[in-house]
Amino acid sequence: MNSEKIPHTKLLYLENSYLFSSHATLLAFEKMDDDTYAVILDQTIFHPQGGGQPTDTGVINSESFTFKVNMVRFKEGIVYHFGNLVDGNLHTDVKVSLTIDKERRILHSKLHSAGHLIDDTLVSLGLDLIPVKGFHFPQGAYVEYKGTLPLEIREQTRKDLEKTVNERIQQGFAVKTMLVPPDQLHQYCRYIPDYLPKDKPTRVVFVYGEHGAPCGGTHVKNIKEIGYVEISKIKTKSGNTRISYRIKNQ
Ligand SMILES: [Zn+2]
Repeated sequence: MNSEKIPHTKLLYLENSYLFSSHATLLAFEKMDDDTYAVILDQTIFHPQGGGQPTDTGVINSESFTFKVNMVRFKEGIVYHFGNLVDGNLHTDVKVSLTIDKERRILHSKLHSAGHLIDDTLVSLGLDLIPVKGFHFPQGAYVEYKGTLPLEIREQTRKDLEKTVNERIQQGFAVKTMLVPPDQLHQYCRYIPDYLPKDKPTRVVFVYGEHGAPCGGTHVKNIKEIGYVEISKIKTKSGNTRISYRIKNQ
């Protein structure tokens, strides 16, 4: 498989997080080992693992095969769907139907939106730490910051954060995304990571209010859908502060 000749994959999940099935054309595939193949499509609804969000899983079907997708990765503009043939044989230049595991995607969207909401709420509580990482996996989700919180305010911060985050969820906010050119990012984002492209717009997601964050993940339509967020722990280590959270009844 010569991926240099393959066009960049159109990322349908960026336009609509609620597209659980769609269609595509299979452009290329490669056998990785006895059971595993990598499949490349012209467009995809599968969110690759990355940016703190776990991989989507699901099925790619055609008239001549059934392919189960276990892991999705993004590299240099191309999405690789790794998985196993359940039935038939893979062919290029065929129309395929795509189906992702809906419940899994919805949970990932809730966790990811909750991570951004915690981040926004932390700032409005007057704690302007520098974000370094978001990890929005069902087991052990957290947002992490550069900077420390004194031990004596940590428990009160945890309570205040949980209270305000859930008040905002009850109140609701329609999540929006916007493509922002590099020279305008500072108007919308509090922090602009160094790795963002300097020559093209960045997708910015807004989960509450007028400040957004650069993000390539999937999100709920309205933060009301998240349910109840429990802030389980605030921990400071090696100069960083980690805020762990989970969604109740996830
Ligand atoms: Zn994000």
